[in-house]
Amino acid sequence: MSICINCDACLRACPPQFGAIFNYGVDVVIIPELCSGCDKCLPACPVDCIVPDPEWAPAPSVWWTLPGGPEDRYV
Ligand code: SF4
Ligand code: SF4
Repeated sequence: MSICINCDACLRACPPQFGAIFNYGVDVVIIPELCSGCDKCLPACPVDCIVPDPEWAPAPSVWWTLPGGPEDRYV
């Protein structure tokens, strides 16, 4: 948050079906429970202050191959 310039680029880059980024006062916050790990906010940030969590599961590469695949428990 000390690096963030509050440009809201990440907020606009977050897909509307997740809507995981919010303005909170002068800060921008990411709600982990809403975040899909799609990483679309990362290249949007002009000052590189969004840091992915390497422990996040499922990893973005897995998440985005999951729907409709053999591991998709909703198919
Ligand atoms: S990684 Fe999370 S916060 Fe970033 S764009 Fe994707 S859903 Fe939104
Ligand atoms: S894109 Fe980066 S600098 Fe801009 S509001 Fe989001 S976190 Fe802050």
